[in-house]
Amino acid sequence: MSANQKQKQTSCKVCGKSSWHIIETLLSGIWDRSQVVLRRKVIFFPIGRCKHCHHVQVTINYTKEIFEALYFSNQVEPNMWCDTPQGQKSPYEEMFDFIQPCIEDGAHIVDFGAGAGTTLKYIDNYCKEYSPTLTSVDFHNHVQSETIKHISGDLNELEIIRRKFDETPISLAISTHVLEHVIEPVNFLSEITKMITDNGNIFIEVPDCSPDANMNNLEFTNLIHGQHIHYYSKESLAQIVKLAGLKIVKQQQLTTGNIPRLLLLLKKSNSNIQHSVIPIENNASKSVTKRFNDYSNYQESLFKKIQQALKKDKTIGLWGIGGDFYLLTQKYPELIHWITSNKVTLYDYELAGHVFYNSKIICSSEIKQAKHPVILLPMYGPTREKMKELSINWGANVTVPC
Ligand SMILES: [Zn+2]
Repeated sequence: MSANQKQKQTSCKVCGKSSWHIIETLLSGIWDRSQVVLRRKVIFFPIGRCKHCHHVQVTINYTKEIFEALYFSNQVEPNMWCDTPQGQKSPYEEMFDFIQPCIEDGAHIVDFGAGAGTTLKYIDNYCKEYSPTLTSVDFHNHVQSETIKHISGDLNELEIIRRKFDETPISLAISTHVLEHVIEPVNFLSEITKMITDNGNIFIEVPDCSPDANMNNLEFTNLIHGQHIHYYSKESLAQIVKLAGLKIVKQQQLTTGNIPRLLLLLKKSNSNIQHSVIPIENNASKSVTKRFNDYSNYQESLFKKIQQALKKDKTIGLWGIGGDFYLLTQKYPELIHWITSNKVTLYDYELAGHVFYNSKIICSSEIKQAKHPVILLPMYGPTREKMKELSINWGANVTVPC
């Protein structure tokens, strides 16, 4: 998609109106690797607050083209979480603690958007005494387990697979870090509501953009991400849940490696479905604004570090040629000048051999032998952690700016 292509505005997926106050625009994208010379396909995601109900979401339509670029490009998915420090509970353990009281004998537990099946596999390990039936629902079967049944389905069209649960209604539906990716969250939850038993539960977890959630170091999180269509707060979710004919029975806010998390347990509501939407006072806009400010401040300090390093040494290396690198070159064109004049060498494992502004990208395994200092560029916490570990193993001269 070209940068200046007119993108069609979408309606608010909570109240249905189409009038937006744009908070910020996220520049996401992917590398076009079809040629040796790398080109960036940029996708603009304006994030807006609905002028009517104050829900915060991306205000353009997610076309088939966008979905394909975001989900089916050959990028390797980064780890979702950092390693759990010793003596602390892992995110999966915390999820399990949250849902365990509602797991009964012979439960049918279904994970909508199961991905690699980490949550289901955790339940499988720790719930054997309940003899649960476990099912994963997702585009592709990445779970590959003998004890977990897989149903292929599009999470944006759950009505197509609804009948598959007629014989075996669901006692516990799980959907973690999925609701922010679906186009119509109310419809998504309504469809799941039709598949659960009358006494069944739905467990959802989303990144927490409530004004009282953790707002420290948001630049190291994936809170704002091209794949995230919706930005939720406790108050916006409370409305969405009601619109879907559900009620909240339990709620918890947690922070893992800077990532604010919101966990909800839902049940069918006995009262009439609410159709009107009350303006969401405590919406996600504060948190979204904070993340963009944090990101911009970090970019500035990162650029200064590069500048200082070049004053000290004739040449330096930059490691990790992804979205953060690209955005840095857009904000500070001087960086491109240093790359073309060979003052800055680029290192990346996946992109080795490609060329960016006349500079051939070197495989990151060469960092071991590098004579110059190398600065690590990606900002996402779990990615930084993995790269840092590698560089320690190599005994290499790598700076991890913080
Ligand atoms: Zn709205």
